Amino acid sequence: MNGLEEFREELETCFGTSCGFCERGCPVYQTLKVKTLCMRGRNRTMLGLLQGRFEITPAVVQAAFECTLCGNCDRWCSLKNTEHTRAFREYLLKHGVEPMKEHSSLLASIKNYGNPWFQPRSARNRWTKGLNISKASPGGPEVLFFAGCTSAVTKPLNRSLVASARLLQRAGVKFATMGQDEPCCGSTLLRVGQTMAFEELSRENMRKFESLGIKKIVTACPGCYTTLKKSVESSGVKIDVRHVAQEISGLVRQGKLDLKRSTERLTYHDPCHLGRLGGVFEEPREIVNAVGTLVEMPNNRYESRCCGAGAGLQSAFPKLSRELATKRVAEARATGATTIVTSCPFCETQLRTVPGIKVVDLMELLLDSAQDVEKGNGNNRKAA
Ligand code: SF4
Ligand code: SF4
Repeated sequence: MNGLEEFREELETCFGTSCGFCERGCPVYQTLKVKTLCMRGRNRTMLGLLQGRFEITPAVVQAAFECTLCGNCDRWCSLKNTEHTRAFREYLLKHGVEPMKEHSSLLASIKNYGNPWFQPRSARNRWTKGLNISKASPGGPEVLFFAGCTSAVTKPLNRSLVASARLLQRAGVKFATMGQDEPCCGSTLLRVGQTMAFEELSRENMRKFESLGIKKIVTACPGCYTTLKKSVESSGVKIDVRHVAQEISGLVRQGKLDLKRSTERLTYHDPCHLGRLGGVFEEPREIVNAVGTLVEMPNNRYESRCCGAGAGLQSAFPKLSRELATKRVAEARATGATTIVTSCPFCETQLRTVPGIKVVDLMELLLDSAQDVEKGNGNNRKAA
């Protein structure tokens, strides 16, 4: 993985250009209006460090970490800005900066429990109770449903996993899970600059998947989706990684699920890791449109605004994180929608912290609609 030095030419290009297009969609800059906290300023800081003009100070550390890695700056610029920021964090840690104390506790939990939430490994499997899902083994199903630690160990987020599994079962997809042996994908390690630990974990994960004969991974977590995709690409193993919305939208299109459409107005929040960073925009919208009426927020698809939960911002900068969530909810409410639909456990939790609108997971919404058909009462989903 690239160190900061490998981006020197890009940093010089930014310094020479200094166009500032990146400011327009940056949720942090648009909220705080601090020049060092948008990509133009951050790139200058990194270049100053490499040239020996700057020293590492608390303000430099803040510039590295007060960013959600949402990728909006990459939308307006040909440089790999989010990669610069990730390498910047790694650079600081390599130069003796201690991880932020809020991040240290997440890292300690990953080391001890295999998840960032201080939950025992056995908690990872609780959501599967009563679902009759087989455990991945050589010669077993080639499709692995990868739950991801945040949804697996947290109520009520694990309802999204139950809904995903039920929908896959209804559509006749043969899949397995790794139960409590499911590993951490390493997303948190990667985002907070622990590159070596991530690479080691990533190699180990690929070995495990290969030994189980896995050919396809379906996950419900956008962070796991982009991270596992990155691991697969860099290792060269032949595994197709998909988000559950991609898998299920295909089944909806093929008519494998019987759905009842309601008249509810729903808006869709693109999780950064699924949309801008993962390139999955239309499949979740197909699902929303199959069960209700989609009304778009002005900032949608590539221009969607981050909810503020990502890349450790929520734990290290809670006030700013909350402000970003409040802005996003205000944008959703202005559409006249009764509900925000999203497909990420972090976005779901984050948006729910702001009152005034219902927030539902995409798979739960879809399962509700399918169950409505069974019950013969298609319009019974309640508005907020
Ligand atoms: S990061 Fe890109 S968009 Fe922003 S100032 Fe530098 S070159 Fe311009
Ligand atoms: S990744 Fe997002 S929060 Fe960070 S600088 Fe770019 S636009 Fe701003």
